[in-house]
Amino acid sequence: MANLTRDFFIALSNNELLNKSAKKWGYRLGAEQFVAGTDIDSVIKTVKRLNDKGISCTVDNLGEFVTEKSESTAAKEKIISVIERIHEEQVSCHISVKLTQLGLDIDESFCLDNMREIVGTANKYDIFINIDTEDYHHYAPTIRVLDELLQDFDNVGTVIQSYFYHAETDMDKYKDVRLRIVKGAYKESEEVAFQSKEEIDENFLKLAKKRLKCNTFTSIATHDHHIIQEIKQFAAEEGINKNNFEFQMLYGFRTEMQEQLANEGYLFCTYLPFGDDWYGYFMRRLAERPQNINLILKDKLYT
Ligand code: FAD
Repeated sequence: MANLTRDFFIALSNNELLNKSAKKWGYRLGAEQFVAGTDIDSVIKTVKRLNDKGISCTVDNLGEFVTEKSESTAAKEKIISVIERIHEEQVSCHISVKLTQLGLDIDESFCLDNMREIVGTANKYDIFINIDTEDYHHYAPTIRVLDELLQDFDNVGTVIQSYFYHAETDMDKYKDVRLRIVKGAYKESEEVAFQSKEEIDENFLKLAKKRLKCNTFTSIATHDHHIIQEIKQFAAEEGINKNNFEFQMLYGFRTEMQEQLANEGYLFCTYLPFGDDWYGYFMRRLAERPQNINLILKDKLYT
């Protein structure tokens, strides 16, 4: 049943027509709880509010199903404007990008050129750029773009999805690169990925622990309190420096726990999506946790 619900929401997230229509609807279905506004001013305001609580941020300009170069160029320019604002306002914040938004499906070298401009601008201001990982089909080209960028820049890194069998090999390959460890958000076949929650959780913990021992900065991105608890215990037992890792969660999820981790002295970073292309992102969150619908309904009924 849980898998069926997950598949249902993943299918909705992949529906191009609904993704495109939703941009015209404005935020619906409670999406505003998980998205920090449509423009740069609103997202910077939220970053400042979270910074005041000791929480840093990573900002994601939402965008799916990009098929025209003009859309990618517009996205690149918007992301560069966010980088400029982060620098001007001196807020504690970096950027997360998805390469499909920057033209990966249109032309890989065009996408690489866009990324060179983004990472180059951020490099001047010492701002980190994280390349989010998407589905398996996009994985190899994403890694090719990353490898090109790493030849010239050290302010770029990516995400290891622990449901993939190849996750450990890639994590080891990037032992000197800042990485985020996640479970993985897309529907993948058993040819390439673990399917059961137990196996995925086990691999997540194995990778996170291995990575914490190799002194390169790591983001542990999960809302799973069992995993967070085990990582905290492991870090304490192994004497891992608290400045070598951070916990990350998505904006709008487990807000109290986010603040509590920051108050306990852990580095904490909130992933802050913004923009009008909210639909696919939002459906993937419902796929991960259908109970989010209850949260939304409760909110709509009682506020
Ligand atoms: P789950 O496996 O969804 O949940 C485990 C348990 O935690 C649940 O059973 C429940 O007990 C508890 N729990 C979870 N959420 C809640 C909640 N809201 N309230 C109360 N209890 C809860 N995926 C990618 O494929 N590529 C990326 O680049 C990527 N980047 C990400 C960045 C961040 C900051 C985060 C947090 C996730 C990212 N993901 C990405 C998504 C990730 O792969 C998972 O799909 C997503 O995080 C769900 O898995 P989970 O580890 O959070 O916990």
